[in-house]
Amino acid sequence: MSGSLVIAGLGPGDEALVTPEVSQVLAEATDIVGYTPYVERVPARDGLARHSSDNRQEIERAAHALEMAAAGRKVVVVSSGDPGVFAMAAAIFEALESGDSAWRQLDIRVLPGISAMLAASARVGAPLGHDFCCINLSDNLKPWPLIEKRLRLAAEADFAMAFYNPRSKARPEGFAKALNSLRDACGPERVIVFARAVSTPEASVRVTTLGDAQPEMADMRTLVIVGSSLTRVIERDGEPFVYTPRSAP
Ligand code: SAH
Repeated sequence: MSGSLVIAGLGPGDEALVTPEVSQVLAEATDIVGYTPYVERVPARDGLARHSSDNRQEIERAAHALEMAAAGRKVVVVSSGDPGVFAMAAAIFEALESGDSAWRQLDIRVLPGISAMLAASARVGAPLGHDFCCINLSDNLKPWPLIEKRLRLAAEADFAMAFYNPRSKARPEGFAKALNSLRDACGPERVIVFARAVSTPEASVRVTTLGDAQPEMADMRTLVIVGSSLTRVIERDGEPFVYTPRSAP
């Protein structure tokens, strides 16, 4: 079998944040597979088939990619950010584990990308400079009580926290509940950052406190960071810096 399957991260949006090894595999691919807006980030060219699908069809998409690689194609599955962070790499391995055993002999590689939390953190300073955790706030693939439990324990452990998928039209209520839990656990003074569409022309950043945070400040293009008790804000003209010192007392 001469086919291959690469699961590649396209970074948060800016072309300059796509790694050279990802650019290289995209240039050599015969097939690009992924959620429509990510597939559209790869320009059309002769010899390249682009297969886009809805973002709920991850397992079907993964099996399709594996079938094409088994048929000898050079397939690249694209995700935004890093493909291993709430994205397609795990879906590919789920399909691999439960699918045709011949797929296991395929040339399969995962190429990392700059995840939204790293781009968002860099945009405001270094809020993830000490211990932190990241949590997907979507309850599409896990029950809401598990999210609440993780929020509570992360707050108790005094982690800084990065939240993916905070709020969507299909799930308008969850993020308001999450904010209430965080406010109860961390207090109203705790810093919160809303980093929207980082590294794209629509980028916007808001630094505020849990006491002043509103659910509407987040949407599906927002990465939310809540600081630990040690996270600091350095005020200056324009946007403040936010950072978490490297040491804890
Ligand atoms: N694999 C991706 C995450 C996919 S989940 C990664 O590593 O970044 C999709 C979520 O990522 C969005 O709901 C949002 O919370 C976040 N996200 C993706 N791109 C972003 C960007 N440019 N700015 C802010 N948040 C982003």
